[in-house]
Amino acid sequence: MAISKDLLLLNKEKFQTKLLQWFQKNKRDLPWRKNRDPYAIWVSEIMLQQTQVNTVIPYYNHFLKTFPTIRDLTKANLSKVLTVWEGLGYYSRARNLHQASRIIANHFKGKIPETPKDLLSLPGIGRYTAGAILSIAYNKVTPILDGNVKRVLSRLFVVSGHPKKTEEFLWPLSESLIPKGSPGAFNQALMDLGSMICTPKIPNCLSCPLKNLCQGYLSGKPESYPLRSVKKKVPHIEAIAAVIQKDGKVLLRQRPPRGLLGGLWEFPHWKIEEKRRLRLRLRNYIKKEMGVNVEVKEPIGTFHQTYSHFKLTLHVFKCDAIDGSRKGKWIPIKNLSLLPLSSIHRKIAKTIIPK
Ligand code: SF4
Repeated sequence: MAISKDLLLLNKEKFQTKLLQWFQKNKRDLPWRKNRDPYAIWVSEIMLQQTQVNTVIPYYNHFLKTFPTIRDLTKANLSKVLTVWEGLGYYSRARNLHQASRIIANHFKGKIPETPKDLLSLPGIGRYTAGAILSIAYNKVTPILDGNVKRVLSRLFVVSGHPKKTEEFLWPLSESLIPKGSPGAFNQALMDLGSMICTPKIPNCLSCPLKNLCQGYLSGKPESYPLRSVKKKVPHIEAIAAVIQKDGKVLLRQRPPRGLLGGLWEFPHWKIEEKRRLRLRLRNYIKKEMGVNVEVKEPIGTFHQTYSHFKLTLHVFKCDAIDGSRKGKWIPIKNLSLLPLSSIHRKIAKTIIPK
């Protein structure tokens, strides 16, 4: 790893001034920037953990409309929170938000903590999120290091090397650059610069307020920083799924409360290795695992979803139940919209909900 920070640290004040001036003129107009409500900032930062800003905005607005205060979130049941989160993915974030809101109510008198130690004790809050809440909501000098900030700092200081190793260097560097009077604005300015100007593939160095201080730009190859990690091939899973109906109801099962898509409802489905005799296999699976005899009818369609670690294809069949079921839950079709479902199961549900 090349570490050459001395030159820039000598110009620290210039760097801070230029970045803050640029931010004043160019900052993104984002709904969570309308005020400094720690609850709103916390929700936005949790949503932004694995999702792009433009995708987050409508979910954030809907979430804050449904749960305007932390007290509203604490009082809500988890199923309602998951339904509001539906489609945003990484549902553990919603579960953690909900759980953390109750811890805050019970142990912090309903006020979002103001120290790194207390914030880090809450589920779903890591070093980055704690830094963002403390600096943006409480104006405390705490660093942040998301993908955008890592990229900007790596280019400014020509930091190369394995991403995990460089973090050890970038965290203290990020902290050392923060001006005392405006940590929140400074951290957000770094994020905005990374998102708007210092983009991953083709940084717009000519429009960058820091170009004369940037060693990556001066090297002529800023885009070679930071080192990119090699992406692993994502496995593709195929499965057969059943929409089992009887008397205006449909048979669903709920996922365990923890883990991938925890707490969400879904149509029963089973992984397949080959696409032969699907109807017969589906009927046998349903009998064995849902305890119900069915007649497998026509296919409803093929549905696809990409998750972080795999791609899923579901071959979905309509099934008529011949008798009752010992497992799962019969849900009136008209109530399907009230249950939290993952995106792929919501698409399937839409095929049977009357318009
Ligand atoms: S000069 Fe270019 S590489 Fe350096 S921070 Fe600005 S946009 Fe990024």
